[in-house]
Amino acid sequence: MVNQTVDIVKDSLKVLIDDGSFLPDLVGEGRNKAFTSLLSILSTPNHVNKSYLRIALENGQVVRIPAFRVQHNNVLGPYKGGIRFHETVKEDEVVNLASLMTLKNALHEVPFGGGKGGVIIDPREYSEKDLYVVCKKYVQYFSDILGPDKDIPAPDVGTGEREMDWMMAEYKSIRPGESYLGSFTGKSIINGGSLGRREATGKGVYFTFRYLLHDFARAKENWLAERDNKFAKTTLTLKDQSLKLAVQGFGNVGSVAALSAFQCNHLNNKVVAVSDRNVTLYNSDGLDIPALVKFVSTNKGDLPTSEEQLGNAAIKAKILGREEIITLDIDVLFLAALENQVNKDNMSDIHAKIIVEGANAPITTEADAYLSKKGIIIIPDILANAGGVIVSYLEWLQGRETQFYTEEEVFDKQFTKMKETFDSIYPQFFDDPLPLRQNCYIHAVMKLSTILYRQGKLY
Ligand code: NAD
Repeated sequence: MVNQTVDIVKDSLKVLIDDGSFLPDLVGEGRNKAFTSLLSILSTPNHVNKSYLRIALENGQVVRIPAFRVQHNNVLGPYKGGIRFHETVKEDEVVNLASLMTLKNALHEVPFGGGKGGVIIDPREYSEKDLYVVCKKYVQYFSDILGPDKDIPAPDVGTGEREMDWMMAEYKSIRPGESYLGSFTGKSIINGGSLGRREATGKGVYFTFRYLLHDFARAKENWLAERDNKFAKTTLTLKDQSLKLAVQGFGNVGSVAALSAFQCNHLNNKVVAVSDRNVTLYNSDGLDIPALVKFVSTNKGDLPTSEEQLGNAAIKAKILGREEIITLDIDVLFLAALENQVNKDNMSDIHAKIIVEGANAPITTEADAYLSKKGIIIIPDILANAGGVIVSYLEWLQGRETQFYTEEEVFDKQFTKMKETFDSIYPQFFDDPLPLRQNCYIHAVMKLSTILYRQGKLY
């Protein structure tokens, strides 16, 4: 995977160098040099840590499993980012995701830097005991670089609170007597996790969309009507319509986003399709999302794949191929699975007028440019899926203070923070010909650049 984040940072710096009101003290040759310094700092990770974990499997075999921890930038605070267990993890992908975390935290004013971890395994192929050993070894191999004030991992694809609990426990045994609650986030509640953390990303993904189409569009109706661009027109047209929604990926992020859409009484939604690694399920009258959530909770996370399973769970749906969800005749597509799902092969068949990125980098650079040019509103990952890291920050804070918030307090703080970001981004987006993603990056790059400049890091 190419490093998409670097390309967008480069474009953002090109816009900012010509804007004399940004860092006005930097002029002439000094300005050129400072912007060149910024590009090299923001486009390269501080550290790429790689190890081959030696694992003695339950079956008696010893295997070496490649594992990464990339630390991109910590100018805003300790490195922060999930650990992904997946068979296709690649080093450049982890670097890209770590850089995205730096920018995401800058955009949402979360006092963390950017990091990301990856382990090249298919967790479904390993026993619970083997996965426990993988988690322990990951912490042992990277223990010097991890910690509540250095680098704080969280769950990502293939990991969850079980893995975070194991990892935190290993960190605690390696560093007896030191504070440990803030070493990992996304832990179970009983182990110091935060109420609301599991749902935070999915709820935030849906909230980003709802805020645009309901709260913002209503409050700014006349203002939007005066804007002569496709994005404003789409927003005004869709805000009062009955909407057909589809959600790709029905894991932590996708299932919660689908349930939020199903339960939302601010918009006239119908979730007509959901998908996972096996199938797409479709019902033009709307799917019974609570029943599907219940089904996956007892089916190792997978959606029903046969008429028999659907019948037993009393769920009405047509079974379609996994990829079909992308090109259905719908209004809004939520992408909550993996990278590169919308690409040159399917981009011209997309019907959705709004795409919301719950997953990180689910649209390739080429498809992104093509769809934006067509006037499709893409609510980017950096904006939409930050709920997880925001509540991870709240979990880290609660762990430090050993004072815990109620679920209501957590969501209230999360949505207040996200709303502050939307209010600084959405008006600019409708006023500006640049796509939403570029607007978000410019905002984040401005923050990081100003801090780096003020800290004297650009000379
Ligand atoms: P998860 O492992 O819980 O769920 C992933 C889902 O995607 C599963 O339903 C799986 O079956 C499905 N899937 C896998 N391959 C697929 C394919 N080829 N086509 C369709 N569906 C497929 O993972 P998650 O935590 O929900 O994360 C999903 C995405 O959201 C990832 O990109 C992750 O980086 C991003 N994200 C997650 C969080 C978080 O807090 N969990 C935070 C920010 C971003």
